[in-house]
Amino acid sequence: MRLILLGPPGAGKGTQAQRLVTTHGIVQLSTGDMLRAAVRAGTPVGLKAKDIMDRGDLVPDDVVVAIVSDRIDQPDARNGFILDGFPRTMAQADALDEMLSEIDRPLSVVFELQVPLDVAIERLSKRAVEEGRRDDTPDAIAKRIELYNQETAPLVSHYRLAGNLVGIHGDRPATEVFAEIQDALDQARVTAS
Ligand code: AMP
Repeated sequence: MRLILLGPPGAGKGTQAQRLVTTHGIVQLSTGDMLRAAVRAGTPVGLKAKDIMDRGDLVPDDVVVAIVSDRIDQPDARNGFILDGFPRTMAQADALDEMLSEIDRPLSVVFELQVPLDVAIERLSKRAVEEGRRDDTPDAIAKRIELYNQETAPLVSHYRLAGNLVGIHGDRPATEVFAEIQDALDQARVTAS
């Protein structure tokens, strides 16, 4: 199965992706995690992305699309994957549509994790204390939410039109959110492959 998790920062995408990995044995492709690894390793991509990420800005589309395209080609992604944090712009969504049509593997379901913004901000502020992520500062959080509304929220209509969008009530304990995701997968009769 090939899934996308959409939703503002703090919606719980990472948490739900982890549960999907454990339950369905598919890989999580988190562009945020991949970029943070590149920053830690000091690769050319990491050097380019570091300041952009610290500010809460978006890394250029061509950089992120290249990372995802390479990753989707790896053998462990053949059985399926969960995209977490990608696509974030219409250009990324178009590039993804093209990549998947080339390998003849369409998306199964696009989940939109819906949470009120005040809840998302509260969760991010808590995470700032617990995990110390460099972009969980008040300024970077505000920027990331602004960019979500401007650049990423329009993708909801894109996938609704494509017919594979499912809205999920994300303002609940993670276990309940996961149960709703699981029900939607069962209803859509999405199989593991
Ligand atoms: P995340 O872990 O998904 O919250 O992403 C952390 C940061 O990585 C974002 O604020 C962006 O700076 C960068 N990033 C992650 N995914 C993307 C993407 N698809 N497009 C552009 N920038 C991204």
